[in-house]
Order: sequence, then structure tokens, then C-alpha cells
Amino acid sequence: MAMFVIVGGGLAGAKAAETLRAEGFDGDVVLFCEEQDRPYERPPLSKGYLLGKAERDSAFVHPAQWYEMERVDLRTGVEVTEIDPAAHTLRFQGSGESPGGYSGGIASYDKLLLTTGASPRRLDIPGGGLGGVLYLRRLEDSDRLREQFRGGARIVVVGAGWIGLETAAAARMAGCHVTVVEPQPGALYGALGPELGGVFAALHQAQGVEFRFGESAAEFHGDAAGHVGSVLTSAGDILPADAVVVGIGAIPNTGLASAAGLEVDNGIVTDAALRTSAPDVYAAGDVANSYHPLLGEHVRVEHWSNALNGGPAAARSMFGQDVTYDRVPYFYSDQYQLGMECSGLPSPGTYDQVVYRGDPSTLEFIAFWLSGGRVVAGMNVNVWDVTDDIQSLIRNARPVDPGRLGDPNVPLADV
Ligand SMILES: Cc1cc2nc3c(=O)[nH]c(=O)nc-3n(C[C@H](O)[C@H](O)[C@H](O)COP(=O)(O)OP(=O)(O)OC[C@H]3O[C@@H](n4cnc5c(N)ncnc54)[C@H](O)[C@@H]3O)c2cc1C
Repeated sequence: MAMFVIVGGGLAGAKAAETLRAEGFDGDVVLFCEEQDRPYERPPLSKGYLLGKAERDSAFVHPAQWYEMERVDLRTGVEVTEIDPAAHTLRFQGSGESPGGYSGGIASYDKLLLTTGASPRRLDIPGGGLGGVLYLRRLEDSDRLREQFRGGARIVVVGAGWIGLETAAAARMAGCHVTVVEPQPGALYGALGPELGGVFAALHQAQGVEFRFGESAAEFHGDAAGHVGSVLTSAGDILPADAVVVGIGAIPNTGLASAAGLEVDNGIVTDAALRTSAPDVYAAGDVANSYHPLLGEHVRVEHWSNALNGGPAAARSMFGQDVTYDRVPYFYSDQYQLGMECSGLPSPGTYDQVVYRGDPSTLEFIAFWLSGGRVVAGMNVNVWDVTDDIQSLIRNARPVDPGRLGDPNVPLADV
């Protein structure tokens, strides 16, 4: 019987296993999960779960009994340590007997999917190891943060990216004093550019968050017990801190792949069918740097919807179907009363014009990023059910009339 192995029990891995069964794969499916928890979704960790509004159980991708029902051999707490693509085997450490007739922590595979995700980038500065200097990737990280978010606590957030801003919102909503230190000139600068980054900065400022743009954390100073007490910024200022949250990006978990000789370049390199450079090995989710036919280049997308859809696409590819993974990149965020969805990747340098449909100061609008008159990205803020229309504009890649694009009386589908 064929053996399909998935390494990495996040959303991409769990959805790939689900798709294999849904597509009728009847062989063995093994899902290796280095974390102790079964696969869960991470967005609630900086939103509802961190705020104490969502139950832990609501984060899990599947109920516990689903794995047995679907004959998915879920190995939690088991890390895969080595892959041998020529022999089609891998080594793992942790409990459990070897699947596929091997023993001693070795498993064989016919097809292998790597969904090993990403890990937080660490801040290597003096005091970086002090207690209360926290990162956010896992359920237990979110639990730790929540313990620190007591009313009146002073929280310094390092990094004004998505994780930093969502965490800042959660801390403010818990009644903490929040300062965000960010070396770029604005919030979400690399993700959205200065125009829309400014909208998010204003939102947080209105909620009482203090920003220190153009400054970075230089040192963390601790107390006698080894707990952080303040942050020295590059401007020489001391910011008192009961806890620090570092959100300065994530690094793809490519160690296994590069040790096995797979092509790795800012992630595991794949083609549009999510095949890696090794035969019968596929990659998806945060770890994959995949060729995107629509964008005409390789992109590594660290967003929920890419794991949700990329895992299944890789599974279909493993199953022998003709797959071209070319979805428009999509992500969402919730901060205070603002909910938004963004399609495309509007980083600085990819656009030359921003067009608004609605007034950004009302926090109910759509923003479009254009390049040469063509829509390259669009974000709907507290406006819903427009994602398909926005993505059609991006896919069509035809020049549009900015006046009609910004006119709320012209249906988006007619632009
Ligand atoms: C706090 C937080 C909030 C987020 N919010 C949003 C949001 O609002 N919107 C949005 O679009 N995106 C959001 N994201 C991003 C989104 O969660 C990720 O894109 C998604 O989790 C990627 O899924 P993945 O399955 O590719 O990888 P991961 O979720 O990273 O899962 C990979 C798993 O593989 C395991 N693993 C790694 N190596 C091995 C090994 N050798 N052996 C066994 N297991 C291994 C890891 O331990 C991990 O459990 C957020 C991320 C975080 C951290």
C-alpha cells in the first residue's frame, strides 16, 4: 500500500491530509507533528484566543477523533530529523513505532510533503534571554502573553508588523500601556507601504499606543531575578517594560530540506505544482517558496490562506493531479474594531498609485494599489463580500480608470 508522509502538523499539513482522503487516497497517511498539540490555526493566537474570547478548542483544525476516523496516523511530539530523498526514507525522534515496516525511528515514503512552517526571527541583543522577553508562534506563547497582559502593565512591542500590531491591540484592550518600537518610518511599512501603514498607525494612536518609528531595541535590561524591566532604544531612551513582545518576522524552517540537498532559497523552492527539486517531495505553506504563474516569480507567502489552500494543492499534486497553484495571495487581520482582508502583495516598490473607494479616516473603505494603471493589490476595511471582485481586478491585470475605481457608485465588477 502506498505511503504518503507529511512532515509538519500545522494548517497546511492537516489540510493536505484531509484532501488526500477527500480525493480518495486509500493508502497510509502519516502526519509528523513536532508540537505536542494536534494541528491548530495560529491567527486566534494574536486575536480571539489572546483576548480570552475564543476557546482553545476552537483553534484546532480537526477534532481529536478525526485523525483516527480518517486513518491519518498523527504523531504529535515527534520531530523528523533527517530525510534521505534517494532512499525515500526519513528519520524521526520521539515516541511511536515506525510506520511502513521499518524500525528504529525510520520511516519510508512513496510521496513526502514538507509543511514545516516558520519560526519567529530572534532578536540577538544584550538581554535577549531575559524572562518576560516573549515571542508569539505557538499556543503556549499566547498563554504566556495573556498572563502578562494585566491592566496597567507596561508592554513594549518590538516590531510594527502584523504580529506586533495585533499584539499591541490585544494588550491595549486588556488595559496595558503599550509602546511599539519600529526601525522603519511607519507601521506595516514593508507589508503595505506608507499610505495604508499610516492608516493602521493612526488607528493604534487613537487607541493610546505610542509608536517610536525609526528606532530599534538596542538592549533589554533586567532585574535581579532575571526578568526584563526596561528597553534601551537606539535613540538612547529607556522604556520601562513589564514584558516585551518581539514580532520581527519569521524564518522558514528549511533545515531538513537543505540538509537533504533540496533547493532552498528563502524557503523550499517549488514549481507551480508545489514539487521540490527532489523526486516525490513536495512543499507547501509558510516554508514553500513557490513559482507563482500569475506573479511570474517565486513567492513565499506567510499567510493563513496560503496554508489553507497550498496544503490541499500539494496533496492533489502528490495524488497525481495536474496542479497549478496560482491563487491571488490573501490575508486578513482584526485589530480593535477594524477587520480587513487584503488580496495581493502591496509592498513598497510594487505600486505607483493608491486609490481609495471611501474615506480611510472612517475605517470603512477599500484601498487599491496600482502599478501602471493596473490593480496589483486591494484591501477592504470593514467592507465585506468584495474579495472576489478585487481578485478579479488583480487577475485581469488590465488598466483601469482610477476615477471609476474610486467611485462607490460604480459596481466593482463594472470597473
Ligand atoms: C500569532 C499568529 C497570528 C497569525 N495571524 C494571521 C492572520 O490573521 N492572517 C493570516 O493570513 N495569517 C496569520 N498568521 C500566519 C499563519 O498562521 C501561517 O501562515 C500559517 O500558520 C502557516 O501554516 P503552516 O502549516 O505552513 O506552518 P506552521 O503553522 O508553522 O506549522 C508547521 C508545523 O510544523 C512543525 N514542524 C517543523 N519542523 C518539523 C519537523 N522537523 N518534524 C515535525 N514537525 C515539524 C512545527 O512545529 C509546526 O507545528 C499568523 C501567524 C501567527 C504566528
